[in-house]
Amino acid sequence: MAEILQPTVLPEARSNPLLKPWETPHQTPPFDEVEPEHFLPAFEQAFADHAAEITAITHDPATPDFANTITALERSGKLLTKVSAVFYDLVSAHSNPAILEIDKEVSLRMARHWNPILMNAVLFGRIAMLHDNRADLKLTGEQKRLLERTYTRFHRAGAGLSEDAKKRMAEINERLAHLGTTFSHHLLGDEQEWFLELPEEERAGLPENFIASARAAAEERGMAGKAIVTLSRSTVETFLKTSSRRDLREKVFKAFIARGDNGNQNDNKEIIVEVLALREESARLLGYPTFAAYRLEDSMAKTPEAVRGLLERVWKPALARALGDRDELQSLIATEGDNFALAPWDWRYYAEKLRQAKANFDDATIKPYLSLDRMIEAAFDCATRLFGITFSERKDIPVWHPDVRVWEVKDAAGGHKALFYGDYFARPSKRSGAWMTSLRDQQKLDGEVAPLIINVCNFAKGADGEPSLLSPDDARTLFHEFGHGLHGMLSNVTYPSLSGTSVFTDFVELPSQLYEHWQERPEVLQRFARHYKTGEPLPEDLLKRFLAARKFNQGFATVEFVSSALLDLEFHSQPASASRDVDAFERAELEKIGMPREIALRHRPTQFGHIFSGDYYAAGYYSYMWSEVMDADAFGAFEEAGDIFDPATAKRLHDDIYSTGGSVDPEDAYVAFRGREPEPDALLRRRGLLETAEAAA
Ligand SMILES: [Zn+2]
Repeated sequence: MAEILQPTVLPEARSNPLLKPWETPHQTPPFDEVEPEHFLPAFEQAFADHAAEITAITHDPATPDFANTITALERSGKLLTKVSAVFYDLVSAHSNPAILEIDKEVSLRMARHWNPILMNAVLFGRIAMLHDNRADLKLTGEQKRLLERTYTRFHRAGAGLSEDAKKRMAEINERLAHLGTTFSHHLLGDEQEWFLELPEEERAGLPENFIASARAAAEERGMAGKAIVTLSRSTVETFLKTSSRRDLREKVFKAFIARGDNGNQNDNKEIIVEVLALREESARLLGYPTFAAYRLEDSMAKTPEAVRGLLERVWKPALARALGDRDELQSLIATEGDNFALAPWDWRYYAEKLRQAKANFDDATIKPYLSLDRMIEAAFDCATRLFGITFSERKDIPVWHPDVRVWEVKDAAGGHKALFYGDYFARPSKRSGAWMTSLRDQQKLDGEVAPLIINVCNFAKGADGEPSLLSPDDARTLFHEFGHGLHGMLSNVTYPSLSGTSVFTDFVELPSQLYEHWQERPEVLQRFARHYKTGEPLPEDLLKRFLAARKFNQGFATVEFVSSALLDLEFHSQPASASRDVDAFERAELEKIGMPREIALRHRPTQFGHIFSGDYYAAGYYSYMWSEVMDADAFGAFEEAGDIFDPATAKRLHDDIYSTGGSVDPEDAYVAFRGREPEPDALLRRRGLLETAEAAA
């Protein structure tokens, strides 16, 4: 029998801002008052409160019903949710050694806290009983879905296992939590430690705004007056595209793909081996042959075979296109009088040259038209036109770093809808990548709760008072994360665990990737892409060339993505013993699929935080592509309506996709919006690979 924990109020409570009611506008976290030492006591209190709430449910003498079990569970753990949201925001977006140290402790405590809840036999007994009798409970659609999801969650966590098996599951979960945290700390460590100084004479080819950002990055690291290249993706990619110094490109490329694989104290290989073994063991305990089989059962794809089918369908035309492009790049090198073989650090550079020659377009020409502020405005404006929401900046909301901006979001009637936090610039305290998260999710179980939604990116800051200028990829990322943001802000569900992005991983990229489509439409660019100095709109011919250039190099982009997704699937569907030598496994798998030597994985295993920092995308990296089948097809609904802001289509998009969170089965949600299943070729068409696919067939 589990220990009964009484809620106790620790002495720190009175002075700990995490435990006091937040008297800030809209009850936002008081970031200006929160110090690292507040977290552990707040977590202690939160764990104790939550455990007591669970005990109250399991000890309730009344016959289990939806209200005293499922709804009570939904109401539990409020403090834990609140403290966790603030903590993990800092861990990812603005950490320091003290926070990272606490993170190690918290991840372990978190696993120790959740294990006995998710494997609680009495609690699961109540849930299972309700689940068995669900037909007689007179539930609403959302309640039915909630019961189904709650039952599935507990069942899949091992609540129905024998006591011995549960004990082992608990150990595995604790260990995995520790390993996931260590993986991301290692990655951050390797990223923070490395930089390449760029003296004047080594800047050949680099655009002016890149150098300005490189100076800002140096200043950020206490090297004012110098310029440095760091390992954030957008910096590395721009450098590889533009630096005409082949030796430096090689250096930067090698440092980027070596993250987590340097044989130093940040090396992630041993972690990967252990993670894969533990995931396999837990899947077997739960009755599945592999982790992939376990993981994918709870997804739209359902099976590893379905995932492989999609990826292979895309792989063949993408590879054919990439190999054709490779030959073209090689002959460009020859044309320039060189005779070296194209290497991975050359691809982006020569592809950019080729694009300039063919489409007469390069990123540097368009960047001055894509200032960050203009693109934020564009993202907001599209949301206003589609969903009627409006944005106004607030300067009175506490934030975790002075660069963070906050906007109040209002609905069409002028009512408060959400707060949106934008944290756009790269800095050493931030992990790489771009993401959306929340400080509070929408729900209305006990009255309307308005969400607090965050977008974090790693764009290069403009230096010397110049605005930050985005590359087309950055602009797309901005819209992508804002699409996730809308999924959180427009959420309109009753129960917190079904809110916003609480959907299947292979559905969650639909709202984000779909939103990218508006960013590259002439209607939007003509209005918002304006020169940051002159205010002039993007010239018509440049716009045309830009749009034509979007399909350029899609073979490369698809190959680097799909190879990573296939590797993820193989890691989790082959026996864990097969990948004991991580580098050898990677080489062998790439060989098997015929990966071109000149293209690197988008994420090599030791830096694949998506699948090893936690399990959200484990055996799930394909999700982006699964969602892309839907987003490519979904945007067609607007094209068919003849207006990318068509009100009737936008209303369906809001009602069926952006506002429903996890309250509806995703397949039903899609069909409700589109009137039919997605048509698979839309993805190949969007990537400009359809003709290659037909030629290859
Ligand atoms: Zn995304």
